[in-house]
Amino acid sequence: MTTVKAYAAEQADKPMAPFNLDRREPGASDVEIEILYCGVCHSDIHTARNEWGGTMYPVVPGHEIVGKVSRVGASVTHHKVGDTVGVGCFVDSCGHCGNCKDDLEQYCENGHSQTYNSFLQDKKTIAYGGYSTHIVVTEKFVLKISDKLPLEAVAPLLCAGITTYSPLKHWNVKKGDKVAVVGLGGLGHMAVKIAASMGADVTVLSRSPGKAKDASELGAHHFELTTGKENMKKMAGSFNLIIDTVSAKHDYNEYLALLKTNGVMVLLGVPPEPETVHAASLIFGRRSLVGSLVGGIKETQEMLDYCAEHNIVSDVEVINIDQINEAFERTIQGDVHYRFVIDMASLKN
Ligand code: NAP
Ligand code: ZN
Repeated sequence: MTTVKAYAAEQADKPMAPFNLDRREPGASDVEIEILYCGVCHSDIHTARNEWGGTMYPVVPGHEIVGKVSRVGASVTHHKVGDTVGVGCFVDSCGHCGNCKDDLEQYCENGHSQTYNSFLQDKKTIAYGGYSTHIVVTEKFVLKISDKLPLEAVAPLLCAGITTYSPLKHWNVKKGDKVAVVGLGGLGHMAVKIAASMGADVTVLSRSPGKAKDASELGAHHFELTTGKENMKKMAGSFNLIIDTVSAKHDYNEYLALLKTNGVMVLLGVPPEPETVHAASLIFGRRSLVGSLVGGIKETQEMLDYCAEHNIVSDVEVINIDQINEAFERTIQGDVHYRFVIDMASLKN
C-alpha cells in the first residue's frame, strides 16, 4: 500500500476535506498514474451529498482524470512510465459477459466497477476517485491521451465528453439534423461542441439568459430560453434529437413535445427525484425517451482521438483543491463556465 493525499466527503452534510488514502501497489496488469488534473462533474456532488442514496463514506470523488504513468506492473504492455493517460467513470468490469465482449463495459451484466463509490471486481474493495495525487487502475481501463491538446481542458472529456459523444454517435447524428441540448453546463457544453462538429444544427435550451453569447461561441446555432411557456410552444415538433443534461427536477413532458415525429430524447442528467411521463407525450409522434450511460472503453478512446483530431476540448476554470467546496456551490447554481478542473499540484504541496 502507498498512502496518498486526497480530498473526501466524510458525510453528506460535511464539506470536502483533506484525507489520506491507501492505494494498492500496482499488480502485474496495473498502471499507477500520477494525477495532474481532475474535472468536477455534477455526479461528484450528487454522490458526495448522497442525493442518489447509497454513498459509502468516506467518498473520494473524481472521474475525469488525466495524468502521467508513474509505475507499471510486470505484464503491462499498452502503457509505459511517462505516458500521458486518462481514466474515466469506471475502472473495471467482469470482462466476459455479452456487454463486456461488445465493448459496452459500462453495461457489464455482472456490475462494472465505477471509479468511486463502487466495489472493485472482488465485490468488497471500495474504489476511490481522482481527487487524489495518484490512482492505480488495471491497464485495459487506462486511456491514451494525445499531448497535442492542453491537458487540463482534456480532463472533462473523460466523462462529459464521452457521455455526450456516445449518444450522438449511437443515434447517428449527421449533417443537418436538428439537435437540442438542454442545460448548458459541463455535459451540455461538450454536447454542443461535439454535435456541431458532426454537422448538426444545434439549439441550446437553457433557463439562463446570460448563457446565450457563450452558447454561440461554443458552436450552437440557436439559443432558446426554457422559462417562458410561449417560447416552448413555439418550438413544438422541432428536433430530431434532444440531449437532456439537467441535473435537477424538470418536466420531461414539456421537452418531449419539442420532438419531431420519431424523435428521440436522451436522458443524461440524473435528477435525484423520479419524474412522471405521460404516455401521450410519447404516443403522439411515435417519440422515444431513452437514457445513456457514459461510453465503453473502445468508444472513449475513439472519442479522445476524435477530439484530438478536431481540436475539441472543454472550456475550463482551473482551481486549487482547497476551492472545491466553492466549486460545488457554483456548479449547483449553474455558474460554471463550463467545467471546474482541479490542478492536482495544489494537493501535492
Ligand atoms: P452541470 O455542469 O451542473 O450542468 C447542469 C445544467 O443543468 C446546468 O448548467 C443548468 O443549465 C441546468 N440546470 C441545473 N439545475 C437546473 C434546474 N433546477 N432547472 C433547470 N435546469 C437546471 O452538471 P453536469 O456535470 O453537466 O451533469 C449533468 C447531469 O448529468 C448530472 O445529473 C450528472 O449526474 C449527470 N451525468 C450523467 C452521466 C451519464 O452517464 N448519463 C454522466 C455524467 C453526468 P442552464 O443554466 O443552461 O439551464
Ligand atoms: Zn461525470
